[in-house]
Amino acid sequence: MSTLTLARADCAGCGAAVEGELVVVANLGARPDLRAALLQRQVNVLTCGACGRRAQVQRTSAFMDFKRRQWIVAYPDWAERHWAELAEATAMSVVRNLGLAAPQRLRAEAPRWSTRAVFGLEAAREKLVIWDAGLDDLAVERLKLVALAGQPRWVMGRAWVDRIDEDSLHLRLVAPDGAEGALRLPRAQLPSGPIPGLDERGLGLDPFVSARRLIVPPEPADPLSFDLDGKAHGHRSGEELRHIPREG
Ligand SMILES: [Zn+2]
Repeated sequence: MSTLTLARADCAGCGAAVEGELVVVANLGARPDLRAALLQRQVNVLTCGACGRRAQVQRTSAFMDFKRRQWIVAYPDWAERHWAELAEATAMSVVRNLGLAAPQRLRAEAPRWSTRAVFGLEAAREKLVIWDAGLDDLAVERLKLVALAGQPRWVMGRAWVDRIDEDSLHLRLVAPDGAEGALRLPRAQLPSGPIPGLDERGLGLDPFVSARRLIVPPEPADPLSFDLDGKAHGHRSGEELRHIPREG
C-alpha cells in the first residue's frame, strides 16, 4: 500500500492557503502515477491555486517497488550530513520490514533488494533513471568521482543523472553557490570496479551509494533536536515514518 499525508501551507508568493498530498510511503509498482510523478519531479510539490507558485516540501519519503525489488528512502537534503547513521537506519528498516516482519516469500527475496538512502527527491529520481536504463548506480557514482575530480567548480556541489541515452549519461550539476550546469559522460567510461588508488570510504557497502560520501563528512545526529520531517509540516514523527507498512 501507499501512504500519503495532507499538507497545508501558506503560499510564499501570494499568501493564499495551499493544500496538497505528500508521500510518506509510495508503492511504485502499484502506483505508476506516483512513479511518473517522481520522474517528472512532481512529488511533494504544492502548487498554489491562486498564483501558480510551486514549492517543494522537504520531508522523508520512502519509495518501494516489489516487482523490481527496489527500496529508496529519500531524506531531506539538509540531513545529508547524517548520512552514515541514516544509511544504517535505512538498512535496518528494510531488515525489519522485509526480513523479520514479512511473509516467507518476501523474506527469501530480501537479499536481492536494492536498498538506497538518498537525500532529496532529485536523488531518488536519479536512482530510477539509472536502474530503468539497466545501469549499476555504483558504477555511475564511481564515474562521477572520476569526472568531477577534474572540475573544481562542481566537485563540491551536487550532480544527478538527469537522463540516459544510447551513448551518454546527461548530468545536472548544482554548484555550492547555486549555479547550475550540465555534463555529458560517455556510457563507455562507466568503470567496472573500484577506482584504483582511491579510498572510496565504503562506497557500495551500505545503502548510501553516492559519490557524496567522499565530499560530506558524516556527523552524528543530536537525538534531542533531530527532526526528519520538519515540525512545520509535521504530522508524523520520524519514528512513525520508520515503521513502514508491510506488503503481501
Ligand atoms: Zn500563491
